[in-house]
Amino acid sequence: MALMTPDQFEESLKVLKPRVFMNGKVVENILENKNTRTVVEANKASYAWALDPDYKDIMTCYSPLIDDDVNRYTHVSASIDDLVKKAEAGTFTAEMLGTCIYRCVGYDAFHSLASTCWEMDKDLGTEYHPRFLEYLKMVQRKDLSVAGALTEPRGKRSQKTLDWPDPYLSLKLVDKNKDGIVVRGAKINISGAFASHELVVLPQAAHFKGEEDYAIAFATPTDAEGIIYVCQYSPYSAERDQADDIEELGNPVYGQRETSMVIFNNVFVPWERVFHCGEYNYSLKLVTRFAKTHRMTCGGTCKVGFMNQIIGACKLIQEYKGLEKAAHINDQLMEMVVLRETGRACGMASATKGAEEPSGSGVFLPDELMSNVSKLNICNAFWRTMALAGDIGGGLIVTMPSLKELKNPEVKDYVEEFYSFGSDEPTENILKTHKLLQHWTAGQHGVATWHGAGPVMANKIMLQRAIDYEHDKQIVKKTLNLKENK
Ligand SMILES: Cc1cc2nc3c(=O)[nH]c(=O)nc-3n(C[C@H](O)[C@H](O)[C@H](O)COP(=O)(O)OP(=O)(O)OC[C@H]3O[C@@H](n4cnc5c(N)ncnc54)[C@H](O)[C@@H]3O)c2cc1C
Repeated sequence: MALMTPDQFEESLKVLKPRVFMNGKVVENILENKNTRTVVEANKASYAWALDPDYKDIMTCYSPLIDDDVNRYTHVSASIDDLVKKAEAGTFTAEMLGTCIYRCVGYDAFHSLASTCWEMDKDLGTEYHPRFLEYLKMVQRKDLSVAGALTEPRGKRSQKTLDWPDPYLSLKLVDKNKDGIVVRGAKINISGAFASHELVVLPQAAHFKGEEDYAIAFATPTDAEGIIYVCQYSPYSAERDQADDIEELGNPVYGQRETSMVIFNNVFVPWERVFHCGEYNYSLKLVTRFAKTHRMTCGGTCKVGFMNQIIGACKLIQEYKGLEKAAHINDQLMEMVVLRETGRACGMASATKGAEEPSGSGVFLPDELMSNVSKLNICNAFWRTMALAGDIGGGLIVTMPSLKELKNPEVKDYVEEFYSFGSDEPTENILKTHKLLQHWTAGQHGVATWHGAGPVMANKIMLQRAIDYEHDKQIVKKTLNLKENK
C-alpha cells in the first residue's frame, strides 16, 4: 500500500537537509525547533488520518495511475465526486488542525499542471504531460508531502517584468542545457515547505513574448542545492519559543501557521522534473487554473473548518459566562453559522459545478465563477466572524495572563478565583478557550485569509472574466420586451 505511517513520515524528513533560517539563526533541526515542529506535526497528522478507519474515506482515494490507494492530497480530481471529496477533506483537515493543511497548495498545483501539461502537449507537441504523470506516480508511490509555490512578481508593480533593474525579482531561467534548467529567484509567503519532501513551482510573471525565461514550472526536492528558507517570525513564534509547555499556547500542537520565503539560488532542475519552459502563452493558464482550484480550497473549505473552531469556542464561553439566554449572543452565534454555511455552500458549488478542463484531459477543476466567489465571500466573512468572536469572548481574549500563572504559587489562587466566572468549569479550561480565540482573532489569520490564494483585486479580475452579464441583460430585454437598436 502506498501510504506511509506517521512515524515513517517523520523518519523520511530526517533524511532531508533543508537550509532553514529563523529569527536570525540557522534552524539545525526542523523536527526539534519548536516552531518548525508545528508543521511537521500538521503534516504528520495527515498521514495518521489516512490510515485511520474513521477518516480513511475522506483522506484517501484510489489512484488508477498506480492502481493503489493514495493520500487524497496526492490525487488529481478526475470527477465531480473527487472535487466534492476534496472540499470535504479541506474542511476536515482545517477543523482538526486549526491551522493550514500544508499539503493543499501542492495538491492544487497538481490539478493545474495535469490540465495544462495535457493541453500544451496537445497544442504544441511537447512531452510535459507524461513527464508530469511519471512525477505524480513517484509522489503517490512514496506518499510524499508536496508544497506549492506560485512565484509572484516582486519587482515594481508599475513596471513590466522585462523593465525591472533586477531580472530575478521573479523566478527566472538562468541556464538551460541537455540535462535540465537552472533557475534563480524567490517566492515570498510559502506555507510549510521546509517540512515537505517536494516543492512544486508555478510561474506568474510571464505574459508576453520576450518573457519566455519566466515561463517555468517544475518540481524539486525541498533540500535541493541552492534552496534556502527564511522563516516568518512573529510574536506568536517568540511565545512558542519561550513556552515551558505547549499547553500554554492557543493552538498547542499545530501552531499559528508557518510560512517562509524560499530562495532559489541557481537551483538545478533535471528535465524530467520540468513541466513548462518558455511557452509563455500557457503560463497564465497555469496560474488561473491553480488560482481557481486554490480559491475553492481557501474560500470554501478550510476557512469553514476554522470557523467551526471559532464557533465552538464562542459557544463554550457563552456557557462559561452563563449567557445562554442572552439574545444578542445567540444572534451573533447564528450569524457566524450563516457565514460559515455560506462559505461551505460556495465551496460545494465550486465543486459540483466543476468540469473537465480542457475537455478530454480527464482533469476536473472547480467552477471559475464560484471558486472566486468562495474566496471573495470568505475574505469578509472571516473578518466578521473574528469581530463577533471578539465581542462574545470579551477583552479577556487579548488581556488574559499567561497560563503559567496557574502554576505560580503567588497568584495561582487569585487567577483561579477571578477568572472562573463563578462557574464550576476549571479555570484552566476557561483560559485555554480564550487563548484559542486569541490565536484566531489576534494573530495572523485575518490577513492570511485575506491574502492567501491571492489578493482581493486579483480575485475580482478573474471574477470579472467569469461573469456572464449578457445572460442577465437578455432576461431584462425579454421581460420588458425591449426593442432592438434602431
Ligand atoms: C499566510 C500565507 C500563506 C501563503 N502560502 C502560500 C503558499 O503556500 N504558496 C503560494 O504560492 N502562495 C502562498 N501565499 C501567497 C499569497 O498567494 C500571496 O500573499 C498573495 O498572492 C498576495 O501577494 P502579496 O502578499 O505579495 O500581496 P501584494 O501583491 O503585495 O498585494 C498588496 C496590495 O497590492 C496590490 N497590488 C499588487 N500588485 C498590483 C498590481 N500589479 N497592480 C495594482 N495593485 C497591485 C494588491 O491588489 C493588494 O491590494 C501565502 C500568503 C499568506 C498570507
